[in-house]
Amino acid sequence: MARILVTGGAGYIGSNTVYLLRRHGHEVTVVDDLSRGHEHNIAGGSFHRLNLADTGGLERVLREGRFDGVIHFAAYIAVGESTQKPELYFANNVGGSISLFTAMQRAGVSKLVFSSTAAVYGTPERVPITEDFPFAPVSPYGESKVMVERILGWLDLYRGLRSVSLRYFNACGAVPGSGLGEEHDPETHLIPLVLRAIKTGKPITVFGDDYETHDGTCIRDYIHVGDLAEAHILAIEALLKGAPTDQFNCGTGRGRTVMEVIRAAEEVTGRKVPYVVGERRAGDPPVLVANSDKLRQRLGWKPQYCEISEIAATAWEFERAREPVPAA
Ligand code: UDP
Repeated sequence: MARILVTGGAGYIGSNTVYLLRRHGHEVTVVDDLSRGHEHNIAGGSFHRLNLADTGGLERVLREGRFDGVIHFAAYIAVGESTQKPELYFANNVGGSISLFTAMQRAGVSKLVFSSTAAVYGTPERVPITEDFPFAPVSPYGESKVMVERILGWLDLYRGLRSVSLRYFNACGAVPGSGLGEEHDPETHLIPLVLRAIKTGKPITVFGDDYETHDGTCIRDYIHVGDLAEAHILAIEALLKGAPTDQFNCGTGRGRTVMEVIRAAEEVTGRKVPYVVGERRAGDPPVLVANSDKLRQRLGWKPQYCEISEIAATAWEFERAREPVPAA
């Protein structure tokens, strides 16, 4: 059993990680300012409503809880918004992280798991992507995560802060029975939008069907949120056993097109997805697929869900419970 502080524990991936950490017997405290997360997502443990800019408040929480480690999710995540409000993204994602690391240093907490992203790679020249691919972000959001990863390199060297950065590919799905699921506002992610299109009958727009892929739509590596949450637990447990600072891709290693996701949603719901084909979305790389060998080999990670239809089925279970589904 370890005592873990989770920042951003009211968000999508954070809340699932809290839920599973507690199932593994760890003691969890959540810090979240609820600016983007939801209080109903806080899956037990104690909770402090705090913004990361409050270094003193964080230091107090860290000292009082005598934490073994921190899992740091709290950040803004909308790529499009980051191009309109870059200052906000750098202040919140980079400034907030520096404030947290300062509080950790003062409180003597030296193990950290950090939410990073495949967006640090931008538009890679080839796939699958291994962790040694160069940083080449194409948005302020991606750059904010690169900056924090770089800062963590220096803090390892000069502060003894040991960290694992997990570079997420496309998190999706829901952990059955958890009551937790994807509820971004506004929602921009493919799977919840596809399922909502089924519920409302309002078509989703497929962003481009003229890419050089087998059906012309973009390829992504969809990872189930429960499998992703387990990667965090393995990472913090490894750090607590003395593992060094490192970075890992989090994906299944399998790519799926937008049309394959739509077909999978049709298969699991037994209903048609209304869609229209629109323009490409600016900044969308055609193909993003992880090589996840490092995560599997070094941390012993094994995904429970590899099929997109299985993942979509868990997301559907959450979506259909959320609001009434109109008759077919
Ligand atoms: N996508 C789409 N229509 C939408 C939302 C997403 O066609 O309304 C596509 C998007 O272009 C990308 C994939 O679905 O190829 C996954 O997008 P999402 O925003 O879920 O995640 P991202 O890959 O941008 O992190």
